[in-house]
Amino acid sequence: MTINEEKYAAIKRELENNKVTLIAVSKTKPVEDIQILYKLGQRDFGENYVQELVDKEARLPKDIRWHFIGHLQSNKVKYIAPFVHLIHGVDSFKLLNEINKQALKNQRVIDVLLQVHIAQEETKFGMNEEELNLAITEFENLKMANVRIVGLMGMASFSDDMDKVRGEFHYLKTIFDRYAKLPIANTSTNAQCQLPILSMGMSSDYKIAIEEGSNMVRIGSLLFGERNYQ
Ligand SMILES: *Cc1c(COP(=O)(O)O)cnc(C)c1O
Repeated sequence: MTINEEKYAAIKRELENNKVTLIAVSKTKPVEDIQILYKLGQRDFGENYVQELVDKEARLPKDIRWHFIGHLQSNKVKYIAPFVHLIHGVDSFKLLNEINKQALKNQRVIDVLLQVHIAQEETKFGMNEEELNLAITEFENLKMANVRIVGLMGMASFSDDMDKVRGEFHYLKTIFDRYAKLPIANTSTNAQCQLPILSMGMSSDYKIAIEEGSNMVRIGSLLFGERNYQ
């Protein structure tokens, strides 16, 4: 058992003081570890792999809010659509469309974050500023009554250069501020979609992310210990 309960309590306090939501990233970790944090009151958990998430959801309490934080393939949306609370990494119309379709089948509305590419590495997914602007301005014409865009998500470079990381978060916050207060009329539901959530920051950089304006952090290894992928 590698759960660091004291660390959890300390991080929880720190985040509450800053009004930041904690997503406990439990990918690759057993359900027993999740149950420990659940008993301590944690309800928001993040997973990266569809099959793993589906298995865990079936075995754990139904009041857990499951966040899908990995790269989601369109053909797998159907497996998580019945229960997922928030999908963090949406970076294409194709995916948005599929989420809407599967949400409709399940007679629910699924909340999503648009992922913005902020890191210098090629491997990180996400939209550039232009694509993001198109997604947001076109959204109301698409009549997707079963999907709501509720914020932005970004991942900084894996780097020891904390100035660089800070700069990337700062850049995302600037973009976020531009859209945060912009109401997007969802013509089909007549509901107002807004972007209150800014999901940025992980174990290594969450403090910087909060200083730069994050209000949702995704923390794995600090809580659950290092991951073993073997
Ligand atoms: C794995 C992962 C995290 C958590 O990473 P840690 O460094 O263990 O905190 C956060 N966000 C995303 C998108 C991830 O894939």
